[in-house]
Amino acid sequence: MIGNTKKCLITGGAGFIGSHLARRLLAQGAEVTVLDNLFTGSKSNLYDLMDDPRFTFLVHDVTQPFWGQFDEIYNLACPASPIHYQHNPVETTKTSILGVMNALELALKTKARVFHTSTSECYGDPDVHPQPESYWGNVNTIGLRSCYDEGKRAAETLCADYRRQYGVDVRMIRIFNTYGPRMHPHDGRVVSNFAMQALQNRDITVFGTGRQTRSFQYVDDLVRAIELFMAKPRAETDRFFAAKGFGVPVLNIGNPGEFTMLELAEMTLKLIPESKSRIVFHELPKDDPKRRRPDISLAKEFLGWEPSVPLSEGLPKTIEYFRSIVEGR
Ligand code: NAD
Ligand code: UDP
Repeated sequence: MIGNTKKCLITGGAGFIGSHLARRLLAQGAEVTVLDNLFTGSKSNLYDLMDDPRFTFLVHDVTQPFWGQFDEIYNLACPASPIHYQHNPVETTKTSILGVMNALELALKTKARVFHTSTSECYGDPDVHPQPESYWGNVNTIGLRSCYDEGKRAAETLCADYRRQYGVDVRMIRIFNTYGPRMHPHDGRVVSNFAMQALQNRDITVFGTGRQTRSFQYVDDLVRAIELFMAKPRAETDRFFAAKGFGVPVLNIGNPGEFTMLELAEMTLKLIPESKSRIVFHELPKDDPKRRRPDISLAKEFLGWEPSVPLSEGLPKTIEYFRSIVEGR
């Protein structure tokens, strides 16, 4: 620790998850610097923090090196929704790989602890269900989703090797579909799409048959897991993951409650009873995973963590957020 106050850097901190994490770290008493190129994030996610003397915002692209003395570096920078990461796929792969490399290089020089946000997309279209951390995945290397999936997989490899080769204290989580207030209303992800469509009386666009599944995690549960993981001493972390046969600390963080997209559409419509929207079916995007559910036994054992907000509780709060946007509140 530098002085008495923990200094934290969040790359991608103007985005959905990063803006929640920034608030949580400030609430712990930390100094927080957010570094973001505002590709999918927005300063409006952080407006209320701008006057806090412990908060700094920098516009920067993580594909270029960055510098600063921090105790903890949280690497979140990367577009996360399929329409955004497929908009400029070469840039997405660069962001994943060069971004984490720049974070790891900084940590190596300054002895900071690193937290890297990986993804359930590392499992691709899984043929093991639910997915444990030991599953290596089923991923297309040359498809439309590959820029994100393979970028994130290569980033994991870099984290593993900076730890083994140089001793950098890095921890990774594979995040499963996470939702909540401050999601971008037009980022194309299913929760925001269905909520905005229902609130604006537009058709609810279910892709494929709607029988594909996802497991939806409320953002507060995720941020709590990040906090617990980063607070674990290094020696205990090394011992636990070595005993489990992993070279590096990696955990699935998600809510095992599994829903079909049709169920999600119906839940959304029930929560917005005045909506005149109807469900319509569109073509399923290529390589769309058929099912996804985390095995969270490792996180339960190591962190004593499990999610506490079911979809039935988190979805109404999220719809309320989107309602405030639609009504211009
Ligand atoms: P988001 O799009 O809201 O946030 C990403 C942030 O990164 C944005 O503020 C964006 O402007 C910034 N960014 C993108 N490219 C950048 C670059 N080159 N340089 C600097 N900043 C850049 O997405 P999110 O949902 O908050 O996701 C945050 C992280 O969590 C991402 O790494 C994502 O892959 C990972 N993740 C999210 C989910 C989820 O369900 N939300 C699931 C798995 C993994
Ligand atoms: N989806 C859908 N309608 C939409 C947006 C997405 O049916 O308007 C489906 C999509 O095909 C996928 C699931 O919802 O099966 C989750 O999509 P999202 O983009 O939110 O996340 P990811 O596919 O990355 O898990």
